[in-house]
Amino acid sequence: MIYQDSKTLLKVRGLYATAKGIEILKGINLTVKSGEVHAIMGTNGSGKSTFAKVLAGHAAYEITGGTVVFKGKNLFDLAPEERARAGMFLGFQYPIEIPGVANNQFLRLAYNKAQVQRNKDELDPLEFDDLVREKMKLLKMDPEFLDRSVNEDFSGGEKKRNEILQMALLDPRLAILDETDSGLDIDAVRIVANGVNQLANRDNAIILITHYQRMLNYIVPDYVHVMESGRIVKSGGKELALELEAHGYDWVSGEQPATVGT
Ligand code: ADP
Ligand code: MG
Repeated sequence: MIYQDSKTLLKVRGLYATAKGIEILKGINLTVKSGEVHAIMGTNGSGKSTFAKVLAGHAAYEITGGTVVFKGKNLFDLAPEERARAGMFLGFQYPIEIPGVANNQFLRLAYNKAQVQRNKDELDPLEFDDLVREKMKLLKMDPEFLDRSVNEDFSGGEKKRNEILQMALLDPRLAILDETDSGLDIDAVRIVANGVNQLANRDNAIILITHYQRMLNYIVPDYVHVMESGRIVKSGGKELALELEAHGYDWVSGEQPATVGT
């Protein structure tokens, strides 16, 4: 174990990463503690999804500098599936379709893996059916999505709900939600946000990646970070998201108004 405050779940220091030899992440620093909700905002192409995928262990990216400690361990010593087993969950910006694999089978398999990890009993198909239907109610998802192939021909919004359903079943320690709000209409944003809020507790943490402020009306972050060119260039409280909405991202990179402070 690497020494750290017991509430610290994730500690990122000077993280650099490349894809196909191009540097994308250029020195990210971020500390996330249990019970916290962090929002990461920023323009398209600023590196938000790359950061999420690097944390989850996506093979397309090479780490070229820095350290990441997750639950006291060097994250880069863990294979992607070990990161998941340790309680890291990534809700993808573009969830993949898995034709031929029924959603209920996929979800039950994932759930039972997590149960084994938690030293709890696995559920048989009937028991699992009760549980998953209850969680789907919370997200106002039609049970017909259980019998369909994972995400196949789901609309953008349906895929996002399915990601949150996975999260609800896996009950992760650290959930990284990448643009979960994109593709959702305003009612769906509320429903999904409500689902996320019900899962948030003082033992877990959420990193919410979003381009827009509207999701943050429902999931109130403790910290807001602005990413630009592969770095976090500004951090603040929840009011920072409102300022961004009012002034645009140029406001961060450009001249700071005198009233903003440090
Ligand atoms: P964001 O999520 O903030 O919109 P991304 O992390 O998706 O930004 O992308 C940041 C930059 O890195 C973009 O210029 C993108 O084209 C590039 N990039 C991301 N992933 C790859 C990859 N696998 N190969 C090459 N370039 C990539
Ligand atoms: Mg992205």
